[in-house]
Amino acid sequence: MQYDHILIRYGELALKGKNAKQFILKLHDNIHQQVKDFDGVKVMRTQGRMFVLLNGNDPEPIVEKIKNVFGIHSLSLAIRVENDVEEIKEAALYALNQETDVKTFKMSVRRTKKDFPIRSGEMNHILGSHLLTNTEGITVDVHHPDLEIKVEIRKEATYITSGTIMCRGGLPVGTSGKSLLLLSGGIDSPVAGFLAMKRGVHLEAIHFHSPPFTSDRAKQKVLDLAKQLTKYGKSIKVHIVPFTKLQQEIFREMPNDYAMTIMRRVMFRVSEQLCKQEGILSLTTGENLGQVASQTMDSMHTINEVTNYPILRPLIAMDKEEVIRIAQDIGTYETSILPYEDCCTIFVPKSPKTKPKRDKVNFYEAKYDFTPSIEEAIDGIETIKVTEKTLFNEDFTDLF
Ligand code: ATP
Ligand code: MG
Repeated sequence: MQYDHILIRYGELALKGKNAKQFILKLHDNIHQQVKDFDGVKVMRTQGRMFVLLNGNDPEPIVEKIKNVFGIHSLSLAIRVENDVEEIKEAALYALNQETDVKTFKMSVRRTKKDFPIRSGEMNHILGSHLLTNTEGITVDVHHPDLEIKVEIRKEATYITSGTIMCRGGLPVGTSGKSLLLLSGGIDSPVAGFLAMKRGVHLEAIHFHSPPFTSDRAKQKVLDLAKQLTKYGKSIKVHIVPFTKLQQEIFREMPNDYAMTIMRRVMFRVSEQLCKQEGILSLTTGENLGQVASQTMDSMHTINEVTNYPILRPLIAMDKEEVIRIAQDIGTYETSILPYEDCCTIFVPKSPKTKPKRDKVNFYEAKYDFTPSIEEAIDGIETIKVTEKTLFNEDFTDLF
């Protein structure tokens, strides 16, 4: 006997009304994407539940993959047996024996098949006695057990589970439309992307690259970060914008203390235009109120003037430590702290305005038309589709 299924529980609160069907189909599809390379593994739906059929595969690597799928509340390893008391007894004993350090347990039988001849209370008793007889040093504790063995007698079969693995919750990626993530090589924007995905958003990413001031390695770092994010969703299209000329124009033509504000406005203008081309309805950034000069209230107000697209800022209220903790948890931190400069760290004005004003910025921008260079940058975009399997040039990875 061995665990042959993974039982998947999804947040039922999110399942009200007509979104339910779309939610479930998308979740099914996203789980399937994660497990399709395992031989014979299948994802199945029954009422209110999903199961992954392991087909003899080791459950561990499969659990590791589906733990990252948004929309799953928790999962458990399960054994499926016929609706037969002897088989159920054997499976319950197996489930108990798989756990170590268990001194007390509790049986929880549920019958959704009401015509199963034995009532739940009596089944609890039968199974509990069987386990007590066949183990040593273990007792029943119905209030605070070390382990709860759950038995669900359904129409088609009985499922026995023990132990619950908590997952990430959220909504299945793809149920909330698309957003364009402004992805730098820093700590914040990958975390912002992860949190947007958690709300069901499918991402594309845009990165502003200024060779030769920013190196190929900086670009590679961004592609690596995008690749790490694909673990939580699907492939991500990364749009690399050649930004050198625009940046040079900004720093040559605009007053130094306003250059950073104007650079951000230009980034948003380019991003919005790309959204229009790609049919994307919002932007996502790693901005966080009060962190640096470009992220004061005045600054956001002035930068935001150039677009009326919604901007998702999932980190807006977080402390840096919280962001770092998430970055470590999702596996982007180590890459983010690699030293390769991005375009914003190279062109840093000596003293950027912390309270830039809209009327001033408009006055300066009226003196120079960035539109032709913006068009040129958009025409020069290189788009790279990053998937979980994308292999990067070994030479680059060695350098990190
Ligand atoms: P991060 O850690 O994400 O780099 P940050 O704390 O360094 O953020 P800023 O440099 O002010 O903050 O950037 C704010 C946001 O602007 C970033 O989170 C990112 O969304 C976007 N951004 C900055 N530089 C780039 C870039 N080169 N390409 C794309 N987006 C960028
Ligand atoms: Mg940064």
